[in-house]
Amino acid sequence: MRTGMQGFFVRQPLWVTIPLIVAISVGASVGALFLLTELMDMPYGPSFGRSLTIAITAPVLVSAPIGGWIVHLLREVELARQQAQALAWNDELTALMNRRRFAEVGRRELALAQRSGRRLVAALLDIDDFKRINDQHGHSGGDAVLQALGRALPLELRGTDLVARWGGEEFALLLPDTTGADAAGLAERVRAAIAQMPVPLGGGLTLRCTLSIGLSEASAQDSFDTLIDRADKAMYQAKAGGKNRVVMQPG
Ligand code: GH3
Ligand code: MG
Ligand code: MG
Repeated sequence: MRTGMQGFFVRQPLWVTIPLIVAISVGASVGALFLLTELMDMPYGPSFGRSLTIAITAPVLVSAPIGGWIVHLLREVELARQQAQALAWNDELTALMNRRRFAEVGRRELALAQRSGRRLVAALLDIDDFKRINDQHGHSGGDAVLQALGRALPLELRGTDLVARWGGEEFALLLPDTTGADAAGLAERVRAAIAQMPVPLGGGLTLRCTLSIGLSEASAQDSFDTLIDRADKAMYQAKAGGKNRVVMQPG
């Protein structure tokens, strides 16, 4: 968390920060000179003019390069922080939220929903016969499918919904303020959209994949883990029922 002066200087462009640092330095020097002149009861003669020139030019010469260097260092630190956060929170292949981050945000969403009495639905989506996709099109073909889903899934959801790569060929959703019936409708829409989506593999080749989707509606007694466990069971029922389908587990 960056606050105060450091955060301000990191956010501004250099053409704002450098003149600002120079202006602050010049202002402080000139102010100090006037204060000294008053305190020591010095006359405002030619020597005062010389001191004033020095008080203005010296800070400009010193603070411009030093200020620029400090701002540059602050930016490097900020960039490193952002990269470390992306590594900790996001899945490298799909750029979606990773499982750890999803669980962290999901626990908070569940607690909020339970406190306010709002509905919340979790979903697990598992690609059908993904091993066969890998076998037929190579690991890079499988990766292309995962990346295509990583791009397509968020487009089907609301901005407040969460979507994550749960692991392997599984994705997870968390749908706040959504009833079981609405979530089932949304999941069916996602299933149909993905089943129709051609995934480009290069060389003009495309493939299609299907999803088995399990849904669970949060109850007041649920923990995040029990909520996800029920979605997982529902997803396995979807597999057992013939794949490429949606199954809902009541809370
Ligand atoms: P089902 O329809 O029952 O879900 O069968 P499936 O073949 O999809 O499931 P299974 O669990 O047998 O195989 C999942 C495969 O996903 C096995 C693993 O090698 C592959 N996999 C996991 N992570 C990745 C990845 O990041 N990239 C690729 N290309 N494959 C992955
Ligand atoms: Mg799986
Ligand atoms: Mg699978």
